[in-house]
Amino acid sequence: MIDDRVVLPHKVIREKPDRGPVGATMHACIVVRIYGRSQCRHAFEIRDFLSRSVVRFTWTPIDTDDDCTHLLGLSLADAGLPIVDLPDGTRLRAPSVAEIAARLGWVSDPKLQEYDVSIYGAGPAGLSAAVYAASEGLSVAVLEREAVGGQAGYSSLIENYLGFPGGISGGDLAERARQQAVEFGAELLLMRDGLSTRFADGRVHTTLGDGTTVVARASVCATGVEWRRLGLDREEEFIGSGLFYGAGTSEAPTCSDLEVFVVGGGNSAGQAAMNLSSFAKRVTMLVRGQTLSATLSSYLEERVARQPNVDIRTDARVVGLEGGKGLTAIHIEDSRTGEVEVVETQRLFVCIGGDPATEWAAGTPIARDDHGFVITGPDLPTSDWPLDRAPFYLETSVPGFFAAGDVRRNSVKRVASAVGDGAMAITFVHHHLASSG
Ligand SMILES: Cc1cc2nc3c(=O)[nH]c(=O)nc-3n(C[C@H](O)[C@H](O)[C@H](O)COP(=O)(O)OP(=O)(O)OC[C@H]3O[C@@H](n4cnc5c(N)ncnc54)[C@H](O)[C@@H]3O)c2cc1C
Repeated sequence: MIDDRVVLPHKVIREKPDRGPVGATMHACIVVRIYGRSQCRHAFEIRDFLSRSVVRFTWTPIDTDDDCTHLLGLSLADAGLPIVDLPDGTRLRAPSVAEIAARLGWVSDPKLQEYDVSIYGAGPAGLSAAVYAASEGLSVAVLEREAVGGQAGYSSLIENYLGFPGGISGGDLAERARQQAVEFGAELLLMRDGLSTRFADGRVHTTLGDGTTVVARASVCATGVEWRRLGLDREEEFIGSGLFYGAGTSEAPTCSDLEVFVVGGGNSAGQAAMNLSSFAKRVTMLVRGQTLSATLSSYLEERVARQPNVDIRTDARVVGLEGGKGLTAIHIEDSRTGEVEVVETQRLFVCIGGDPATEWAAGTPIARDDHGFVITGPDLPTSDWPLDRAPFYLETSVPGFFAAGDVRRNSVKRVASAVGDGAMAITFVHHHLASSG
């Protein structure tokens, strides 16, 4: 049976005049069509990227020759799935996410030789820094390895961010912030992985994976955190074919009538459970601890408890994964008894927090703690700080290089605090630029 599912995860927010590649409104009127095998990781990565970028898409799983011939006029072997049809009629066969972004006009080169400030990462902290920097007259380039939004882009509904009493999806929030930053003149250099950093002449020289160099008089690092893995055998194999990290925003519509499992007891896991419960037959939260109250905000705990098709299983750890082409079962250990139960399921969503994305700082003088978080301001050991003046609150061990949001040691791990950090960092950037002439 062909399941031509239209996924319209987000509403269109507002349209802006086209300002060229960096300023083009990403999502307005775009409908991308994706065809691929239902358990294909590559197709999942495309759906996930488009969902976080607030692009409308349709998803048609194709698993038989008959369906493939009927829909695409080709056999499964010859089709080159996944296929992506763009709104301008272009058909891409097995494209990378970077290629899709480039074809949609989102990848551009820096316009200036030198910027007042470069910002690493386009999550809430980086986008906030971009809005404040650009609105206060600084030239600013945001360097992002993939889509805008960061972790927030994985959130189906953020309910505790000021000003949105009905909540807002992380993708929508990020898209609004992106529009605002671009409107003020910030340049967004997306899909730029593999940045490396060098400090010379009082400037920050950043080389991106594609060889582009961006020079800035100050920088804000806002690279956030990356999903923590379960650390199980075969985990890599099932990513995108039954195993997903985060709230499953792009995958929730594919869970209808399924029994799904969510690992984690924090707010992201609670949000995932609530979102998935609108589609799935039953959602079971697997919580390592003895209660949810220690880790979940009370508003979410109450909601989860009231939802009839959400179960909570405490003292539970996933210790194994089974399957063929896709996930078919998980092994759950009861930590009180040590007993392991094998439970059939095709969907496992993992929301167990993250580790700082600071691998790019290796080999630089930027001080990090034992877990890799960037140390700033008053937390810096005096031996790491080179100037007579005290470091500014969000300044790293390199003067003029600041850190904001989740990547920072002792940060609060909330959208609001990341946004606050981003705004505050720009105030310190002004002080630094004024003092360095
Ligand atoms: C599912 C989920 C639900 C959540 N719900 C809520 C909620 O309801 N309320 C709330 O307050 N908080 C919530 N949070 C937490 C919140 O999203 C984070 O605290 C916030 O996103 C942190 O923002 P950030 O900008 O510091 O980092 P991130 O959001 O992690 O963004 C970092 C960005 O940097 C980019 N990056 C990383 N490394 C590099 C590199 N080397 N080069 C270039 N770019 C790089 C990443 O791609 C990413 O875009 C949720 C988190 C998740 C995962």
